[in-house]
Amino acid sequence: MNISIQNVEMTYSNGKQALQGISAPLQSPSLIGLVGPNGAGKSTLMKLLVAGLLPTKGEILLGDSPLISKEKELKENLGYLPQSFGLYDELTVYQFLDYMAALKGIPQSRAAIEKAMAETNLSQYKRTRIRTLSGGQRQRVGIAQAILGNPKLLILDEPTVGLDPEERINFRNLFSKAAQDKIVLLSTHIIEDVQSICNRIIILHCGIILFDGSPQELILAAQGHVGMIDQMPAEKEEGYHITARLNTLKGVCCRIVAEELPPIAQAVDPTLEDAYMYLIAKEEKK
Ligand code: ADP
Repeated sequence: MNISIQNVEMTYSNGKQALQGISAPLQSPSLIGLVGPNGAGKSTLMKLLVAGLLPTKGEILLGDSPLISKEKELKENLGYLPQSFGLYDELTVYQFLDYMAALKGIPQSRAAIEKAMAETNLSQYKRTRIRTLSGGQRQRVGIAQAILGNPKLLILDEPTVGLDPEERINFRNLFSKAAQDKIVLLSTHIIEDVQSICNRIIILHCGIILFDGSPQELILAAQGHVGMIDQMPAEKEEGYHITARLNTLKGVCCRIVAEELPPIAQAVDPTLEDAYMYLIAKEEKK
């Protein structure tokens, strides 16, 4: 599957420009992390990709044709978890997934539902009414409906919100396996999720793409801009962009990102989170 986002702009009816002309090819197989501050335009981009919104300018192609002319093909190949997902509280987990399978026109839905429940660890809740599930279990039902029928395009808007660390790791592994033969686009605030599974990271900021490349490339760009200050003078803290701060017996130990490291800082290898913070801080200084 090939999707091409071409100079896409999106302005809402209240005049808010959420995307300001972005372009990116999405090719199978890949697992792409979409990250950026709140309001950057991530959810808007995802809604455009599932044809839930139409771009104000530019276009999105599925293969060689506009996405909107291929709605049937898109629907058959799409799994989507939006940020706020309405579940039918009075249905059981199985009934809900059966309903979603019917909407998606999935053949042999029984086997597909059993598989999706097994992969999201929900088999034991098959006959449980959704209203009695915990927040994390409900999130898993949302993920289960998205992966139903093994879609070729999986779009997940903050899928790991509300999950405990073990569940998050399980899902990361599940998404990584799924991405072997499809496009998985995952928006998240959790940089560790991106670091451990994504082969590509797209950073959105105020409706533009600040970075599109591999996590390694992003880390490389921050090399020399991350440092440790073992005993941070209290009066200097304000002046630095601090990504970690630890109170120790010797004093306050800080990890900072800066265009130019001060002499009191010792350069260290950036993590992906440092590199992300460096890029965003640089942009916000402009
Ligand atoms: P993100 O998912 O990165 O937090 P969004 O795509 O939700 O960002 O929002 C991008 C911008 O568009 C924000 O400024 C948001 O307030 C605005 N926005 C989102 N949805 C709407 C809408 N339906 N009407 C008007 N403005 C919107």
